This record gives sequence, structure tokens and C-alpha cells, in this order.
Amino acid sequence: STMPPLLAAIANAGRRGVLAKSAVVMERLGRVDAVALDKTGTLTEGAPHVTDVRPLPGSGLDDDALLALAASAEHLSEHPLARAVVAAARDRGLPLADAADFTAVPGQGVTATVDGRTVRVGAPGRLPAPAARAPQHAVVAALEDAGRTAVLVLRDGAPVGVLGLTDRLRPDAAATVAALGRLTGRPPVLLTGDNERAARQLAAEAGVTEVRAGMLPEDKAAFVEEAQARGRRMLVVGDGVNDAPALAAAHAGIAMGTAGSDLALETADAVVVRDELATIPSLVQLSRTARRLVV
Ligand code: ADP
Ligand code: MG
Repeated sequence: STMPPLLAAIANAGRRGVLAKSAVVMERLGRVDAVALDKTGTLTEGAPHVTDVRPLPGSGLDDDALLALAASAEHLSEHPLARAVVAAARDRGLPLADAADFTAVPGQGVTATVDGRTVRVGAPGRLPAPAARAPQHAVVAALEDAGRTAVLVLRDGAPVGVLGLTDRLRPDAAATVAALGRLTGRPPVLLTGDNERAARQLAAEAGVTEVRAGMLPEDKAAFVEEAQARGRRMLVVGDGVNDAPALAAAHAGIAMGTAGSDLALETADAVVVRDELATIPSLVQLSRTARRLVV
């Protein structure tokens, strides 16, 4: 046809399940030479499930009460971990309490008032919990050693329990990592807010050797900016609110659409609407070919 190459590339990408927001995006995608991937929802399916429910001694809570409390605080969150906690409570037929004053902090967790008490659910290292030798530390460490994502539950500032969650690697994760490594000549890097041990275990399964764990959203963006200051042209692939700053900073940003947060979809240059990671390397290849035809 006589369609301009970049436009043809957009149409072609669309047939493969990727929505590119402009022809300029295809241009930029064709130039990327390094890749950073988010973990939860990007390398993984983004549908984690609760594997462990551990009320702490002295909390007065049993497993069901802990799960119901956490789910009541989480049910307004769109984070994959929050969805998993709510699903686990529903599976057990537990009634959720109304939550007021809900707030979510990306990369950290949520806060809500449940039955008149302040409940926080989130990353153990990020919530303001009483320090050393508190009983939750051993529970968190044991779960993380087993490759779980541990989530701490606080009630009125006191730790009352820990939940363990796990998420499956996408079936095409390893092939995608390998293909992106071949295309750019550099091994892709994993950027995650999750703990180092869970991140490393999953990264190894996907063939990723460089892992940056415990990152806040602004840390992910700073990593991208620093690489680009050294001359890299980064492709960032992410799905969450926590990925939005890095997607914005990147030479090209792609959001995983099906489980993606609204902010990630808005910020990214392109959105994978089909639930396949493997479309990304073929999109980069397509963009390169289109660029060569334009030049
Ligand atoms: P990732 O970079 O892997 O996508 P996030 O930055 O979204 O991870 O989250 C980092 C960590 O913050 C999680 O591992 C979890 O401990 C905590 N967290 C964030 N949001 C929530 C939430 N809604 N419920 C529980 N934990 C949360
Ligand atoms: Mg994510």
C-alpha cells in the first residue's frame, strides 16, 4: 500500500494487540537500546494469590479476622496485591467492613478507617512500625525466604499480622527477556518495589540477572534518568501507578493494559491490550524496520 511506513507500523502493531499513541512513539521505540521491566503485573501475571495468613501473638485475631480486616482496608485499591487480599477474603466467605478515609501510597500500601480503627496494609519496610525485635520481623523474613511477597497489617499503629502472597511468571516472560536482550545487546533490568528475595527468585526464573528491589516509584524514575544521562535510550515496561514516573521518564514507555492502572495507561506511549508480553520485542523490531524505511 502507499501508507507511510510509521503509520503502517502503527496499524501492524494494532493487529498484534499493541496500541501506539502516535507515529512518533514508533519512531522512538525503534531507537531503544536498553530495557527496564517492572515485576508485579509485568513479568508476572499480576494476579497474585494469598498463600499465608499469620496473625501475630497478642493481636487477638485469628486467620479469618486478620484477612477480613486487611481486605476491608484494601477493597478500594486497584493494586494487584489488594485484589488478591480481597479475593482471599471472599473465597472464605468473610464479610468485609465498610472502610472510610481510604488512601493509597504507590509503592507502599493503603490506609483506611475500619470499624473506627486505623488500618494500614503494605510493605513491611515502608510502614511506620515499631522497630527491632518486634515479632513480625521473623514472620516477614521466613515468608520472604520462601519467595513470598510479605505484607504487614497494622491496626492503630500496632502490627497485628502478616500476609504472604505469590504471583506466577507470565508464560512468555523468559522468551521475552531473551528476545529483548538480543535486540538491544544488553540484558534487561528488573525494577521492583517488592523485596529483594522474592524479586531475585522470580528474576532467575525469567532469566533476568540485574535486579533492583525495594524501589519507590521515584527510584524507578531516577534509575531511568540516570541511565539516559549516560546515553542509554530506555524502554520501560510497567503496569502500575508505581511505574508511572518511570514510564514518563523513559525514551519509550509501554504499559501492560489488561491489569494496568489508569495512570500507567495514560502515561505510557503504547499499551499492550492483548495479555502477551511477547508482542513487545516484535514491536521494537517492527519499529526499527519502519524507521529504516522512513529515513
Ligand atoms: P512492583 O514494583 O513489583 O509492581 P509495587 O511498587 O506496586 O511493586 O509495590 C511495592 C510493595 O509495596 C509491594 O511489594 C507491597 O509490599 C507494597 N504495596 C503497595 N501497594 C500495596 C497494597 N495496596 N497492598 C499491600 N501492599 C502494597
Ligand atoms: Mg507492577
